[in-house]
Amino acid sequence: MKVSITAMSMKLNDLHKLSKSVESAAPMPALFVGHGSPMNAIESNVFTEGWRMMATTIPQPNAILCISAHWETDGTWVTSMSKPKTIHDFGGFPQKLFDVRYPAPGSPGLAKEAQEMVTKTSVRLDEQWGLDHGAWSVIKQMYPDASVPVIQMSLDYNKSAQAQYDLARELSPLRKKGVLIIGSGNMVHNLRKIDWANQNQGFDWANEANEIFKKLISGNDHHQLINYKKLDSAVGLAIPTAEHYLPLLYMLAMKGEDEAVSFFNDQTVMGSLSMTSVKIGV
Ligand code: ZN
Repeated sequence: MKVSITAMSMKLNDLHKLSKSVESAAPMPALFVGHGSPMNAIESNVFTEGWRMMATTIPQPNAILCISAHWETDGTWVTSMSKPKTIHDFGGFPQKLFDVRYPAPGSPGLAKEAQEMVTKTSVRLDEQWGLDHGAWSVIKQMYPDASVPVIQMSLDYNKSAQAQYDLARELSPLRKKGVLIIGSGNMVHNLRKIDWANQNQGFDWANEANEIFKKLISGNDHHQLINYKKLDSAVGLAIPTAEHYLPLLYMLAMKGEDEAVSFFNDQTVMGSLSMTSVKIGV
């Protein structure tokens, strides 16, 4: 009896130490990832290598919360099914891309937690969506064994950029619980102006917009980034519609005042896209 009580108190001590170390651990980085073509899901190139390398340099996440450009809804929703389906939300690509499945589990528990954390709006639980290619094309390259649970949060097309930034900020404590939050879009994204002959280069205006974004991100000037419609005309060309840009604002909202920010996959491609990605935290 004496022995078992001693053993139990040792275990409690260990647990106490463990919980203290989790509490004091640095928050999981938050990532904005430029996802580009859906083909990146099955190709191997400098960008997919950048994603893969990122996954090896950050701590192993307990779960992933992804805000993808490809899920826009009336109201804010979070996926809460235990087995999200792989959604092939694109056309005109080879069959082998449609054959891809990414069978990562969902996390009904994390969905509920995210729902309860946001007070700026009411978040609803979704059982219909799954993982769209903004999420799985990137996450499959980062975690090919699909063992990390993934949930998605939608972009509410009725909310202003400021309102979305504000609600995203409420989710940042999840980072301290080992949740990797990924915003998946493209800062420069103008499909009407795509130049297929120029795979590895951007137009001058695309490069200009890319530099403006990086400067404002590095300078912590979130106000100007939220009010992007008032920026230079190059930015207007870069953001003809907001959905690929907004996931960036969700990630900037996660940033602590003194946290580091760095860039990877910093390149414009196909004239009017940028793959430039942002890591918040270390
Ligand atoms: Zn996209």
